[in-house]
Amino acid sequence: MVPKGYCINLLNTLWTRDKSWIDATVVNHERIHTAQQKELLFLPFYLVYVLEWLVRIAITRDWQKAYRSISFEREAYANAKNHDYLATRRMYAQWRGREKSMDKNAIGLGKE
Ligand SMILES: [Zn+2]
Repeated sequence: MVPKGYCINLLNTLWTRDKSWIDATVVNHERIHTAQQKELLFLPFYLVYVLEWLVRIAITRDWQKAYRSISFEREAYANAKNHDYLATRRMYAQWRGREKSMDKNAIGLGKE
Protein backbone atom coordinates (compact mmCIF):
# COMPACT_ATOMS: atom_id res chain seq x y z
CA MET A 1 0.00 0.00 0.00
CA VAL A 2 1.14 3.55 -0.68
CA PRO A 3 1.89 5.49 2.54
CA LYS A 4 -0.41 8.45 3.21
CA GLY A 5 0.83 11.66 1.57
CA TYR A 6 2.76 9.79 -1.10
CA CYS A 7 2.00 8.56 -4.57
CA ILE A 8 3.72 6.10 -6.83
CA ASN A 9 3.94 6.41 -10.59
CA LEU A 10 3.74 2.93 -12.09
CA LEU A 11 3.82 2.86 -15.87
CA ASN A 12 2.34 6.36 -16.15
CA THR A 13 -0.47 5.66 -13.65
CA LEU A 14 -0.46 7.45 -10.28
CA TRP A 15 -1.34 5.43 -7.19
CA THR A 16 -2.15 7.22 -3.94
CA ARG A 17 -4.29 6.67 -0.85
CA ASP A 18 -5.71 10.19 -0.90
CA LYS A 19 -5.77 12.23 -4.10
CA SER A 20 -6.89 15.47 -2.41
CA TRP A 21 -3.31 16.77 -2.23
CA ILE A 22 -2.52 16.02 -5.88
CA ASP A 23 -2.24 19.34 -7.71
CA ALA A 24 -0.79 20.49 -11.04
CA THR A 25 2.71 20.67 -9.56
CA VAL A 26 2.53 17.07 -8.32
CA VAL A 27 1.19 15.94 -11.69
CA ASN A 28 4.07 17.75 -13.44
CA HIS A 29 6.55 16.12 -11.05
CA GLU A 30 5.10 12.73 -11.97
CA ARG A 31 5.13 13.55 -15.70
CA ILE A 32 8.86 14.18 -15.36
CA HIS A 33 9.17 10.71 -13.81
CA THR A 34 7.19 9.27 -16.73
CA ALA A 35 9.65 10.89 -19.16
CA GLN A 36 12.52 9.37 -17.16
CA GLN A 37 10.81 5.97 -17.22
CA LYS A 38 10.18 6.03 -20.97
CA GLU A 39 13.76 6.87 -21.87
CA LEU A 40 14.98 4.01 -19.64
CA LEU A 41 12.31 1.63 -20.99
CA PHE A 42 10.52 1.45 -17.62
CA LEU A 43 11.97 -1.60 -15.82
CA PRO A 44 15.58 -0.27 -15.72
CA PHE A 45 14.19 2.99 -14.29
CA TYR A 46 12.73 1.17 -11.29
CA LEU A 47 15.86 -0.93 -10.80
CA VAL A 48 18.19 2.07 -10.91
CA TYR A 49 15.79 4.11 -8.75
CA VAL A 50 15.66 1.50 -5.97
CA LEU A 51 19.38 0.74 -6.20
CA GLU A 52 20.29 4.43 -5.99
CA TRP A 53 17.91 4.88 -3.04
CA LEU A 54 19.43 1.91 -1.17
CA VAL A 55 22.97 3.21 -1.75
CA ARG A 56 21.97 6.68 -0.57
CA ILE A 57 20.24 5.22 2.51
CA ALA A 58 23.45 3.34 3.32
CA ILE A 59 25.41 6.58 2.99
CA THR A 60 23.01 8.96 4.76
CA ARG A 61 21.27 6.56 7.21
CA ASP A 62 18.16 8.69 6.54
CA TRP A 63 15.61 7.29 4.06
CA GLN A 64 13.89 10.64 3.45
CA LYS A 65 17.14 12.50 2.85
CA ALA A 66 18.21 9.61 0.62
CA TYR A 67 14.90 9.77 -1.27
CA ARG A 68 15.22 13.49 -1.96
CA SER A 69 18.76 13.02 -3.25
CA ILE A 70 17.92 10.30 -5.81
CA SER A 71 18.90 11.72 -9.20
CA PHE A 72 15.39 11.16 -10.61
CA GLU A 73 13.81 12.98 -7.66
CA ARG A 74 16.26 15.88 -7.79
CA GLU A 75 15.30 16.55 -11.39
CA ALA A 76 11.56 16.12 -10.73
CA TYR A 77 11.56 18.36 -7.63
CA ALA A 78 13.74 21.03 -9.25
CA ASN A 79 11.40 21.34 -12.22
CA ALA A 80 7.95 20.44 -10.88
CA LYS A 81 6.76 24.06 -10.89
CA ASN A 82 7.99 24.67 -14.42
CA HIS A 83 5.08 23.40 -16.48
CA ASP A 84 6.97 23.97 -19.76
CA TYR A 85 9.95 21.94 -18.59
CA LEU A 86 9.13 18.74 -20.47
CA ALA A 87 8.99 20.64 -23.77
CA THR A 88 12.67 21.52 -23.42
CA ARG A 89 13.95 18.66 -21.28
CA ARG A 90 17.07 16.95 -22.58
CA MET A 91 17.31 13.16 -22.49
CA TYR A 92 18.85 11.75 -19.32
CA ALA A 93 18.61 15.18 -17.71
CA GLN A 94 18.59 13.48 -14.30
CA TRP A 95 22.24 12.60 -14.83
CA ARG A 96 23.34 15.83 -16.46
CA GLY A 97 23.50 17.74 -13.22
CA ARG A 98 22.13 21.20 -12.76
CA GLU A 99 22.35 22.87 -16.13
CA LYS A 100 20.31 25.26 -18.23
CA SER A 101 17.40 22.84 -18.66
CA MET A 102 16.76 22.78 -14.92
CA ASP A 103 14.91 25.56 -13.18
CA LYS A 104 17.24 26.49 -10.36
CA ASN A 105 14.63 28.75 -8.83
CA ALA A 106 12.02 26.02 -8.49
CA ILE A 107 10.93 25.21 -4.99
CA GLY A 108 10.57 21.57 -4.04
CA LEU A 109 7.29 19.89 -3.27
CA GLY A 110 6.22 18.25 -0.10
CA LYS A 111 6.10 14.52 -0.50
CA GLU A 112 5.33 12.38 -3.52
ZN1 LIG B 1 9.16 11.89 -7.34
